[in-house]
Amino acid sequence: MFDDFFECQLQQDAVVLEEVFDSRDWDTDVDPLSLPHSFWGNIALDFMDSKQRDVMLSSFFRYSLRRGLKVMPLYASAQYAKLDPFCVRKLSDFVRVPLLLKDGNLTAGLAGFREKSHEVPEILLPADVRSSHVYKSGGTKGLSTPTYITDADLVIEAYSLARRSFLAGGMRPQERLYSCYNPTHKGGELIKRAGALIGKKTVLLKRPEDDIVQCIRDLRAHKITTIAAVQPPVSSGSDSFQQIKKGTSFLNLFEADHSLFGAQGQVKKAFVTGYQLPQEIIALAEDVGLSLFTAWGATEAIVGATSTVTGPPTRLCKFNAQHLVVGPHFLAVAKIVDERLKPAEEGEDGIVLVNTLAREGTLYFNYAIGDMAHVLSKSCPCGRTTPVVSNIRRIDNPAEVFGVGCRYD
Ligand SMILES: [Zn+2]
Repeated sequence: MFDDFFECQLQQDAVVLEEVFDSRDWDTDVDPLSLPHSFWGNIALDFMDSKQRDVMLSSFFRYSLRRGLKVMPLYASAQYAKLDPFCVRKLSDFVRVPLLLKDGNLTAGLAGFREKSHEVPEILLPADVRSSHVYKSGGTKGLSTPTYITDADLVIEAYSLARRSFLAGGMRPQERLYSCYNPTHKGGELIKRAGALIGKKTVLLKRPEDDIVQCIRDLRAHKITTIAAVQPPVSSGSDSFQQIKKGTSFLNLFEADHSLFGAQGQVKKAFVTGYQLPQEIIALAEDVGLSLFTAWGATEAIVGATSTVTGPPTRLCKFNAQHLVVGPHFLAVAKIVDERLKPAEEGEDGIVLVNTLAREGTLYFNYAIGDMAHVLSKSCPCGRTTPVVSNIRRIDNPAEVFGVGCRYD
């Protein structure tokens, strides 16, 4: 399907991106926070020459790595003392950065920081941040990890979610959006902000206490055309997009009133998250003509990956096959071969490692947040030059998957 609106935005963004690219010396370490926040919502970032993008993002990576090592107590340890950010000349040099693990693996000699962060959460707070707020993440084992965020950080992530996921997923200005996500969680806050950024006429937020009957009433009364909902149970639930009671899952809403959804109904578009969109929902969307897309995100990094609804029919990035969204985060899919970290190649599975490129608050470097993914392809007929990943899934302890120690020299 050819989409005028998206094509037009893409052309405008490409002009802006080119100006930014030509205006800096990318051999130096460029402060990612020196760019306008809207930069991170530039959709041309996903379509640009991958070598040029790599040059730009590795400059941000070096800057943030240098800053993180200096200002975050988490990195004040021997294994980081040897790390010189200058060694990052391209993004694949992430393999030189030590793995950051929540839970370690003693037999493999891998340390974890969960216990320490539970006692002293501020090891994750950069010393140069004046004011921040905390989103807790990861409910597993009863100990959650805090991510410190500033308001600027929320704006950056909201731009990235709004333009690089929501626009790609078919959301448009002037629609009426209903969000089932808890607004006190980071995912819920960002969905609200992203909706406003792309110019929704209204964004209606479901209260946690609203039951199905109330939801359906609100959908009708507020003439909602687009819904953002979750479909559990799919995982243990540390995905910040999916912290919601099972009572108001997408399928429950659909079952409560079929006539509301699809090409003939009032709600024509749906953003549904969970680790995997169940086949049942995909079939149902195709059956009733509901425009459906998904994204992957965690409190530590939103938005991490997204599927799309427009582009050539041959494109790969539909439903559970998603493009990685690079910048403000860089997600690497990695494996260990001969005790060394390596990028996973096309057709391989690997651990997802979060690297924060642009944030005032908590900076993560090679943080194995607990997800695995399959690298489906490094290119896609839709024109995006970012990898397509699939089978994103939660694992309990990434350190166990590695099983062996790791060298970075
Ligand atoms: Zn694609």
